[in-house]
Amino acid sequence: MSTDITRRLDAARTAAAEAGIDALLVTPGADLRYLTGFAAMPLERLTCLVLPVEGEPVLVLPRLELAMALEAGVDGHGIVLHGWDETEDPFAAAAVPLADARRVAVDDHMWAERVFAFRSAVPDAEQVLAGPVLRGLRLRKTAAEVDALRDAGAAIDRVHRRMGEWLRPGRTEREVGRDIAEAILAEGHESVDFVIVGSGPNGASPHAEVSDRVIEAGDPVVVDIGGTMPSGYCSDSTRTYVAGGSAPAEFVAFYEVLQRAQEAQCDYARPGVTAASVDAVGRGIIDAAGFGKEFLHRTGHGIGLETHEEPYIVSGNDLVLESGMAFSLEPGIYLEGRYGARIEDIAVTTEDGLERLNLTPRDLVVID
Ligand code: ZN
Ligand code: ZN
Ligand code: ZN
Repeated sequence: MSTDITRRLDAARTAAAEAGIDALLVTPGADLRYLTGFAAMPLERLTCLVLPVEGEPVLVLPRLELAMALEAGVDGHGIVLHGWDETEDPFAAAAVPLADARRVAVDDHMWAERVFAFRSAVPDAEQVLAGPVLRGLRLRKTAAEVDALRDAGAAIDRVHRRMGEWLRPGRTEREVGRDIAEAILAEGHESVDFVIVGSGPNGASPHAEVSDRVIEAGDPVVVDIGGTMPSGYCSDSTRTYVAGGSAPAEFVAFYEVLQRAQEAQCDYARPGVTAASVDAVGRGIIDAAGFGKEFLHRTGHGIGLETHEEPYIVSGNDLVLESGMAFSLEPGIYLEGRYGARIEDIAVTTEDGLERLNLTPRDLVVID
């Protein structure tokens, strides 16, 4: 990991220099973890990586968190640690390496009060966003990152494989969701990021989480779940189940369209094609079957240290896919008031194709 971090810091500096930026300011979040390996908590006391294009990177952090940063090995990557005392002004400390900076980039998720405090601490520097600089790095995963995503995919697959233990008619979505959340942790995640159990008409609302609705026999149930692994990398996979009994015949036909669309997208996505064209391939099939209006969200999102990051697989995104990009392929069809269905795999582009990281059956699974 050490060489990975050193390489990332160098790449961030190079990208910043190319963008005419003198330094990056990165507070706790995925960008900080990416650049330092340190999963700092976003707290009221300032923690900030100051990464000048010229000169040493400095991690300014409360003295009481110094031990945690050392444990994460931050000092092993040539990052100077500055532990600030309770009475010190941490913004003044962070500004020391920025004396000559004319343009500093703040990370996209920095709290507004800190952005303003930095404006006062470094009054002569123009502020811009660091996102455009860092996005390009995080978008291209290394083999080690793909391994971490593969582990996350296997962990969430184990949870899906156990669905028959919990998903039964007569139970509420909330009860089922609670069991799934426990299993997400038991199967190796460090935290549960979301649990969606959308039964019957609730399946028609893509972001409904869980409710007290009692699942009925023959209900289609959309189960979309994910968590974060100890590595920091995330999982996210959706399968659509039928809880007991048999699904309505028209649902079976409807699901078949979705499955064909998702399969076609997985066959198509590869280096050299645009994100928008991947979306279009699935949309064309769903449209032809008469459900175009009911496929109401984008096909997918990138994934890594965050569940939703670049690249977004959406109409209008002309980004050309390259090997090592990881994203979801999750078309869905939603019939308001009746039911919905979604199939979601995380996939990563290889040299000449695509590797899916979720491997549980994509057929409509009837749980008896
Ligand atoms: Zn979503
Ligand atoms: Zn999902
Ligand atoms: Zn997703």
